[in-house]
Amino acid sequence: MFSREFEEARRDVWALRDAPPGADLIDEASIGDWRLAGLLWHPELGHGSDFDQCLLRRAEDIRRRLHGDGLTPISPLYVSSICQEQCVYCNYRSGNRGVEVVRLRLSQDALEREAGFLVGEKGVRLLELVYTGDPGLTSNDMARDISVVRRVLDAHGGGGVGVNGPSLSELDYRRLREAGADFAALWMETYDQGRYRRLHPGNTPKSDFGFRLDAYDRMFAAGFEWIGMGVLSGLADWRLDWAMLLRHEAALASRWGRRVAILGCPRLKPAAGALLRRSRFTPSDRQFRLALAVHSLFDPHCLPFINTRETWDLCLDLARGGGCLFTFNCATAPGGYTGAVAGAQFPSGSFDAPVARRRLKAEGFRFHSGVPFTSPFASARRP
Ligand code: SF4
Repeated sequence: MFSREFEEARRDVWALRDAPPGADLIDEASIGDWRLAGLLWHPELGHGSDFDQCLLRRAEDIRRRLHGDGLTPISPLYVSSICQEQCVYCNYRSGNRGVEVVRLRLSQDALEREAGFLVGEKGVRLLELVYTGDPGLTSNDMARDISVVRRVLDAHGGGGVGVNGPSLSELDYRRLREAGADFAALWMETYDQGRYRRLHPGNTPKSDFGFRLDAYDRMFAAGFEWIGMGVLSGLADWRLDWAMLLRHEAALASRWGRRVAILGCPRLKPAAGALLRRSRFTPSDRQFRLALAVHSLFDPHCLPFINTRETWDLCLDLARGGGCLFTFNCATAPGGYTGAVAGAQFPSGSFDAPVARRRLKAEGFRFHSGVPFTSPFASARRP
């Protein structure tokens, strides 16, 4: 379990920060070498110099060789906006008494309608079921939701469904996998334990930092082949968070012999009812692109989950070379696709699938449909 080696990992990352590697590592490192994170502290990083260009080009080349500009459309499907958590950066925090939020939980019929809209009308074949910390929903309910979405997908020729929600027990993750979930995702938010405590106050399930850290081990233990992890850039020092993420992924690869399949890359945006709306820690667009490029060198098989918190142009830049999940239609309120539901978890765009497909095709991208993941085994060679 990673919580047991957390202190050691933190010391490793600080040592890397104090003595970052030279630019040679861009060409020399092999897949899974988490020392690549040291490039985030390279003195030339982020200034628009040749160093930045070299890093971005190298990452794009590797992705193109491996993925051939192929990407996979995905859409989130929110199941609930009821939440017992107090994440200070989120509109759905329980202390928000109605600022741009209507609290509701989807019925099975409503869930089927939402899935039918995305799959049948918009042609999106990979759905992410999104759960808040809703105390009224158990893993049995989530398993039933997965079956509903699977039925809809099967009626339209197949596809994939995954779950992104609270950190669960191994037994709960097993239940989701057996119900037919293709992936389980969870964003760590931040690896800065002190900040984590202040950002997630109270005595709720999410306030347990160690339990969240170990969720990825429990996903693998439960038999998930495809798991997603990431940090919410902007909650704490982004360089330390991204470096810890790589260190954590490397630890999982050595323990389980499997790579992480999905890279969550949300960036802090001001949500209407949040207490924390801006932060001095948020990376600039350029820094954000470079962080993703470093991750691509670390593991080009892992698919960044490009999300509509970002502008179309930045999404395009992040997707260059392919090998990513690209969010098309996006509603962050339950029922937001087929009902007139007010509110949102955070401000985001929504790229309507038919238009987005045309625009991306014109940019040279190709599309995968359904479950796009390659071998989960950690030893894949660098292309
Ligand atoms: S981030 Fe998730 S768990 Fe936290 S308040 Fe928002 S919906 Fe709830």
